[in-house]
Amino acid sequence: AERRKYALVTGGNKGIGFAICQGLLAAEFDVILAARSIENATTAIEKLQSDNIHALVLDVSNDDSIERAAKEYGEKFTHLDVLINNAGIYPDEDVNILTVDRELLDRAMNTNAFGAIRTTQAFLPHLSKATAARVINLSSDLGALDGISTETPSYSLSKLALNGATILLATALKFQKIAVYSMCPGWVRTDMGGSNASRSPAQGADTAIWLATDADLNLSGKFFRDRKQIPF
Ligand code: NDP
Repeated sequence: AERRKYALVTGGNKGIGFAICQGLLAAEFDVILAARSIENATTAIEKLQSDNIHALVLDVSNDDSIERAAKEYGEKFTHLDVLINNAGIYPDEDVNILTVDRELLDRAMNTNAFGAIRTTQAFLPHLSKATAARVINLSSDLGALDGISTETPSYSLSKLALNGATILLATALKFQKIAVYSMCPGWVRTDMGGSNASRSPAQGADTAIWLATDADLNLSGKFFRDRKQIPF
């Protein structure tokens, strides 16, 4: 029998994460849509009208939640082929490196950077059971060294840290043949990106679907936008 392919998307209930779930279903994955609440996960899943979508509760800022989610995953599924660390926040008050407070820095770093690291750690036993697993981190060109912005300090630093995590994880997982990528989705019309953004959620999801299915495994540890490698 053909082995099923499983993909998990954090923050899959809306925005780019939801579009990634749609794209992965179309690519014939079994998709685990993770959300902070079961209500949000269930509502999103109903919209997708597929037998191949499953709900999981996962708050990436909370280690207990991450551990519970990884345990529940192991009870239901045999392995994990693709982990998409998509969950992220963009704090509204994040406007000035000269005045940003520690609470805001903590919050952005904790969700956007440390959440992806801790989630990857917790799901590693499941990723290790796949043949050639992939981890995809939803970063931003605001996290590139020539893109960090004094006007979005906590967000920029958190994505810069996430890009660093991509490099570290890719190196650490090289011999296990688990590839780790960072990507920028472009400016996307979501609750975060706002209605003036240039791209649809499906366009924002495109590079993630490509990284999950077609990208060269030797490009692990690199940063992508529009299916092309870009500098960190
Ligand atoms: P949205 O705000 O539309 O969606 C964010 C998703 O992340 C929601 O599902 C949200 O859940 C979830 N989330 C937030 N905090 C947590 C948490 N602690 N645990 C689990 N889930 C959480 O954002 P986008 O879809 O626009 O963004 C997705 C990713 O793409 C983010 O990492 C973002 O930084 C990145 N990105 C987006 C760009 C854009 O233009 N939109 C540009 C560059 C990067 P809930 O519904 O519960 O809040």
